[in-house]
Amino acid sequence: MTDKPEKFIDENGIRSDGRRANEIRDVKIEVGVLSRADGSCYLEFGKNKVMAAVYGPREVHPRHQQKSNRAIVRYKYNMASFSVEDRKRPGPDRRSIEVSKVSREALENQIFTEYFPKSAIDIFVEVLQADAGTRTAALNAASVALADAGIPMRSLVSACAVGKVDDTLVLDLNKNEDNYGQADVPIAMTPDGKITLLQMDGHLTPEEFKQGLEMAQEGCRQVYELQRKALIDYYSKKTEVVTEATTAEDVKKDAPEEPEDVTPVDVTEDTEETEKIDDTNEIGVTKETDDTKEPGDTKATGDTEETEDTVKTGDVEELEDSGEEVPETGKNADETYGQMDESEEETSNE
Ligand code: UDP
Repeated sequence: MTDKPEKFIDENGIRSDGRRANEIRDVKIEVGVLSRADGSCYLEFGKNKVMAAVYGPREVHPRHQQKSNRAIVRYKYNMASFSVEDRKRPGPDRRSIEVSKVSREALENQIFTEYFPKSAIDIFVEVLQADAGTRTAALNAASVALADAGIPMRSLVSACAVGKVDDTLVLDLNKNEDNYGQADVPIAMTPDGKITLLQMDGHLTPEEFKQGLEMAQEGCRQVYELQRKALIDYYSKKTEVVTEATTAEDVKKDAPEEPEDVTPVDVTEDTEETEKIDDTNEIGVTKETDDTKEPGDTKATGDTEETEDTVKTGDVEELEDSGEEVPETGKNADETYGQMDESEEETSNE
């Protein structure tokens, strides 16, 4: 652990890391960095490095935690053993439980949880490198990851700490300022100034507190702009890719080439049978079902019934007429859906 510096701010008003009192550290935000999560964000706040992953809305396990009228929000803050100077003992401790609780509360009331009854929204944040202000950095990353997961929110949440060193208010404390300063006040707020997290360590006069709040508001506003920009940049790039891929040119280019040497097949024999089979294949039921199926509709009960109905009606009769062996379509479909349900359950059990 480094020793307490004699002075935190020099005679020119410059802090030990070269910043002025009202400046935040450099922020870097990357959206959608984890393919297995529904939403994710990697964020650097000065020397802090954090990764946030969001899953959900998804089934609640254990089930007794589920709420009939809204989604539950769970937030897990974890500091990697190698993230700090002295190795941190792995696993949850009092501090990480406290940080998780206040951070969950800071985000929960911005989420439209009432849209997803009986489900869970899970937020995981891993601190890979810590340098003071990890809870605020984690909140900033989690907020972006929630947006990336498409969770409907009233607004993003942006966070930043304000504190006091050398009897001066400073924005976004670094490690030395946090460890040896006179006060540390992490704050999270929405862009319209609603405070969703406010903690205080140390002492401030009411006047200092008021002034500090204004400084923090400006810091959070800057963070908000960066979060917003990161999301816009990420999604505008994604849209470009989709638009490019769907132009007629690309579709033509991507289409497989027609084989030139097609060996002729003698179809004179068994013509009748072939025709019959062709007829039965002409049903187009499977195709129709596929075409009408909207992406992501597999779970809808109505669709499942429709699929089964269309496969059974008429088509099986035609197959029977043709003398072909009739596959037990309905049964197979049931089995298939049964398997899907099971595999979904397995996934959600993970
Ligand atoms: N810290 C540490 N070991 C720990 C917990 C914290 O070295 O077990 C350091 C870490 O750099 C952290 C800083 O102390 O960022 C300040 O911790 P605090 O509890 O104030 O939370 P934070 O400011 O990170 O939100």
